[in-house]
Amino acid sequence: MQGEAAALGIAQITAMPSASLTRRISFSAAHRYSRPDWSAEKNAATFGACAWPNYHGHSYVCDVTVSGPIDPITGFAVDLGTLDSILQKQVKARFDHRNINQDVPEFADGKLVPTGENLARFIFEQVQRELPNPAKVVRVTVGEDDSLSATYSRE
Ligand SMILES: [Zn+2]
Repeated sequence: MQGEAAALGIAQITAMPSASLTRRISFSAAHRYSRPDWSAEKNAATFGACAWPNYHGHSYVCDVTVSGPIDPITGFAVDLGTLDSILQKQVKARFDHRNINQDVPEFADGKLVPTGENLARFIFEQVQRELPNPAKVVRVTVGEDDSLSATYSRE
């Protein structure tokens, strides 16, 4: 009996219609790729122009996709005001008009190299940590320009 009830409960949960929502947020920031344990030559050979010591900037475009069951009362999969305040704190305030290597401790030289891939993963994890249940981050894409973007998603 208990098993049947549990099975019914699961069936009800999985039958709840869900949807995803994508919010775009932009920020301008400087960075460079550098491994302090490597020689200048090895950094230049591996990272090319991205290793130039005096940094360079991008106008980043970041798409954050979250999903959740559609609330039958509000029609929301996630409360947009809540998502926006999380993105303001975790993305805009942290990265906009910053030097990522110097201003964001997780990307200091010797820690995470500030590639699009690492930025997407980092933003994914920071937003997920603050997003109220049952909404989940599905995907984060960070674009450096029109020709290059990196996506992190959880399988
Ligand atoms: Zn760059």
